[in-house]
This record gives sequence, structure tokens and C-alpha cells, in this order.
Amino acid sequence: MSNSDILSKADRVLRPVLKELGRFPWIRLEGCCAGHKPEDSLWMEINVLGSSGLRRLMELLRILDSKLADTDCRLDCLLSYSAPADISPAPHGWIPTAIEVFWPSRNDWRRSQSMIVETLLSSIEEFSNRSGDTTNPPCAINYCPFCSSSFIRVDTIEKSGQQRYRCGDCDMTWTMVDPVVCFSGTFMEFGYTEELLEIRRVVRDFAESEIRPHVLEWDEKQIFPRDVLNKLADLGFMGVLIPTEYGGAGLGYVEYVTIVEELSRVDGSVGISVAAHNSLCTGHIYSFGNEEQRRKFVVPLAKGEKLGAWSLTESEAGSDAAGTQTVAQLEGEHWILNGQKTFTTHGTYGDICVAMALTDKSAGHRGISAFILERGMPGFSPGKKENKLGLRASDTSTVVFEDCRVPQENLLGEPGNGFIDSLKVLDGGRISIAALAIGMAQGAYEAALQYAKQRKQFGRPIADFQAIQFKLADMATEIDAARLLTYRAAWMKDQGMQTTEQSSKAKLYAGEVAVRVANECVQIHGGYGYIKEYPAEKFYRDVKLCTIGEGTSEIQRLVIAREILRQ
Ligand SMILES: Cc1cc2nc3c(=O)[nH]c(=O)nc-3n(C[C@H](O)[C@H](O)[C@H](O)COP(=O)(O)OP(=O)(O)OC[C@H]3O[C@@H](n4cnc5c(N)ncnc54)[C@H](O)[C@@H]3O)c2cc1C
Repeated sequence: MSNSDILSKADRVLRPVLKELGRFPWIRLEGCCAGHKPEDSLWMEINVLGSSGLRRLMELLRILDSKLADTDCRLDCLLSYSAPADISPAPHGWIPTAIEVFWPSRNDWRRSQSMIVETLLSSIEEFSNRSGDTTNPPCAINYCPFCSSSFIRVDTIEKSGQQRYRCGDCDMTWTMVDPVVCFSGTFMEFGYTEELLEIRRVVRDFAESEIRPHVLEWDEKQIFPRDVLNKLADLGFMGVLIPTEYGGAGLGYVEYVTIVEELSRVDGSVGISVAAHNSLCTGHIYSFGNEEQRRKFVVPLAKGEKLGAWSLTESEAGSDAAGTQTVAQLEGEHWILNGQKTFTTHGTYGDICVAMALTDKSAGHRGISAFILERGMPGFSPGKKENKLGLRASDTSTVVFEDCRVPQENLLGEPGNGFIDSLKVLDGGRISIAALAIGMAQGAYEAALQYAKQRKQFGRPIADFQAIQFKLADMATEIDAARLLTYRAAWMKDQGMQTTEQSSKAKLYAGEVAVRVANECVQIHGGYGYIKEYPAEKFYRDVKLCTIGEGTSEIQRLVIAREILRQ
């Protein structure tokens, strides 16, 4: 492929995607990450060996840079060296070990990967031809990059699959990274990438400025903040997990968890809205819908132009959701739905609703199918708005179907698979409820910590008392543990792994931690914890949902037990 071919191809493929991504403030192409998140970037091992290694590397980088210039991809070089104690500084400075191309959209990464690999490989070829050195291709380890000796041996192979090499002459050591390991993205990391920190900062700023000033009023008056969701849509948060080609932000579950957590730290009502819209309604249609349904429904949902609802629960079918009574009968070109759903988040304000209904009574849970309903369809209407203990600014309502005529093409997924698909949707949804829980727990903990430092009794801040310190220590520890479970589940989801057990563990533990933390938050506030001027009482009311919604704690324990007994 010629240079201009590559450039025009890069231009064609990369430009529109980057342009689309450019509207999201957290995408910083110039960001450099030292701790790798291989799935965020293309990381390719291209070592330039020989005594003039550094000069040759720079030459290669210049070629690559010019080829990627028009793609807006950020090219970076990961450099590392390991010097024996007696050689410092290393004679030739840093040893290059890998070249990294930052690619901001995880969902598009695999697609872009092959294109960038092509670019990199053609650059290497060009480089090799220029240097006239085809016998020593730059990817091979033939010479020590410090002293040019060819006496190289493998020193150790680390757990991660990385090999450490040692020069038999100068005793320098260095690490090469197996590209296969990089590409599979299977490293475990506990640090936040630059990109994730930026997302956290953006959401936190938003929550502090756009949500916090109104939280009390919304809660008191049960105001559903629709305009805030519109602003969140501008940031891409109403289509977090949806690829850019369907109008979403193209991010993964780790980012999603961060977003829900940060919103919930300030207001769980907004957190649950974002969670229900993204992972339940939009997620269900994206995962099980056909191309036409994705284009028609997912795109406006992901852009936040439409608000999504998801109706599984009924008055007689809660934990036992397979006991669905709502029925759908095929009449000509339409399904006719009759029944009622309870507790639907966005039941009143939702524009698009995924609802489960019985299409074959004789087939039990295998007779339940999923349907896409649109606001305004005859026979589809919101029912009673619930007056709730907590999360009072979120919209929870009954949804009513009275001879509701749903076009046949709005059947979502295979007939009879609605319940099974719902369980898969809940595997993701439960991670977001765990994030909702840790966000609210974090908010309650921070409020308690601040209060404990300010409030004086017996002439000292109450934080001086060991009894209060122990509470704070337990709160901080449990939140940390819940967060680790939640991020693990999110990370596994991003790897495409089955997460039924991990999602339930995260949801169960985080939900119960949130209840304990909010309880201690009130206790630390004393009488003021009981009063509305302080945030403690609201957290106390709000967190309880986390042990109920998307499966109660008892049901999570059943799921976990079933999974571990099955193994
Ligand atoms: C604010 C809010 C928002 C919601 N949003 C939605 C939504 O958007 N969409 C939706 O479909 N649903 C939604 N729900 C419904 C929620 O998922 C259900 O309330 C939940 O699954 C529990 O069902 P239930 O209320 O019928 O309780 P039940 O199933 O009646 O449970 C009552 C008690 O019995 C226990 N129990 C039941 N079965 C067993 C068992 N086998 N073993 C041990 N204990 C058991 C439960 O754990 C619980 O303690 C929402 C609920 C709330 C409160």
C-alpha cells in the first residue's frame, strides 16, 4: 500500500470517528499513560536494536508520526531501562521497548487496531529499506541496545508473560513485552488511566455545579430533573456503552461505573436515571435488537434525544419475574399487549420502553418475549407515579398496556427469549446499581468525615474520639472493598467475560455497604443526621433502594450460591 493510500485510508476511517469523539471533553489525545491500559491504545513492540538504536528509533518515529499525523491518533513511545546499580546513568540513555498509539474509543479499538497495525508495519518496512538493513529487522532482538553485543539471553519470564533480557557482556537488563499479551488486554491494574481520571473530573465538576445546588429541592418536591439528563447527553453520558457509530460515547463498563458513581456521590436519583437508561433500556435494545432497531431506537437513546425505560417487574412478579402476567397476542401485523408493570424507572417520562410480556403461556419463562414501545402508541400509558422513601427525584411509575398495538417489527430479540435476555441485561445493570451504591456511600462517608472534623463536643472535634474514628475506618474500608468488587465486575464485562456471579457479588456487597455507611453517617451527625439541612438523612433514605432494585439482596445471594455450586 502506498503512502498516500495509507494516509487516505487513515483519513477515511479515523477522521469521522475522531470528529464525533472530539465533542466529548474527556478525550485527550495528547494524554500519555505510563501504566498501561492496553485496550485503550494500540501498543506495539518495535525495538530498534544496535549501537545506534536511539537515533534509528527517532527516525522510525518520524516516519510513523508523519503517517499518523492526519489521523489525530496520538503516537507515543514507551521507554524503559533497567540499569545495574554500578552503571548509572545508562550509557545510551533510555532503551525503547514499545510504541503506543492512543486510541480513545474502546469499542472501536479492535476495528482501528488492524488499520494502525498496517500503518506501523508499512512504516517499519519503509524504515528498514531506508536504513538498508533488512537482515536485522527492527522487531528482532539481536543486539544489546547498550553495547551492541549479540550475547543476549533471556533472564527471567515474569508472571505477566514479559521476558527480561540480560546482556552477557555489559550485564544490562531490559524488558520486552509480548504483543499478544498486550493486545488481549488481560493485565490487572489498580490504577486509573489518565482518561478515566479525566472522565471522573468532568463528571465530578458537572455533579457539583449542575446537581448539588438543587438536590434538596428536587428531593423535597419530587422534581424529575429532565434538563439535567439533556446536559448529561451533551457529555455522552446517555449512551456511555454504545459505539460512536450508533451515537454513543463508545466507552466501556469501567468508565460507565465511574460516571454512575460520581453522579450518585451527589445525587442517587440522577445516578439511577442514568443507570436505568443506559444499561437497561438502551443496553437491551443494543444487545438483542436487529440493525433496524438499533438505528431507529438506540441512536436517539444514546444521543439522549429520547429517554429509556425498562419494564420487567409486575405487582405479582417481582423477585419471581418469570411470573409475568402481561400478555402479548399476535393479531395480523401487530402484537396486542395487555397488563401492567410496576416500579418502572422513567415510567412517566420515558419515550421508549422495553417491556416483557407472555407470548406463550405454556412455555413458562421461555414464553416471555421483549417488546419495544414508544410513547404515544395507542393503549400505552403511564400509570401511578410512586411516592417513594428515597431517590424521590427519580421517576418511578406504573406502566399500563390496554389493547396496546405494537408493530411486529418491535419484537425485540427472539420470541420467547425476553426473560433470558433480561437476565443477561441485569448482569450489566447490577454493576451499575453497585456503582450507584458506592457513589452514595462515598457521598455519605465524605459528609460524615467533614462533620466529624468540625463538630466539637467535650471541647474536641468528635473525630478525636476513637469510637468515631473506628466508624470512619470501617466505612472507608468497606467502600474500598465494594469499589474493588464493582470495578472487577466492570473490567470483566469489558473483556467480554461472563459476570453473573461477579455482578451479583458487587451489587450485593456494595448495596449492603451503602446501607451501613449511610446509617453510620446519620449516627456521626447525631441529631443533625435526622434533620434535612444535612445530607445524612437523604443518603440514609436513598441507599435502601440498592438492596432492592434489580434484584433484592436475598436474590443476589441465591444467584451467587447457584453460580458457586454449579462450578
Ligand atoms: C425505586 C425503584 C425503581 C425500580 N425500577 C425498576 C425498573 O426500572 N424496572 C423494573 O422492571 N423494576 C424496577 N424496580 C422493581 C424492583 O426490581 C423490584 O422491586 C425488586 O426486584 C423486588 O421485587 P418486589 O418488590 O416484588 O419484592 P418481592 O419479590 O415481593 O420480595 C419481597 C421480599 O421477599 C424476599 N424474597 C422473594 N423471593 C425470595 C426467595 N426466593 N428467597 C428469599 N427471599 C425472597 C425478597 O428478597 C424481599 O425481601 C424498581 C424498584 C424500585 C423500588
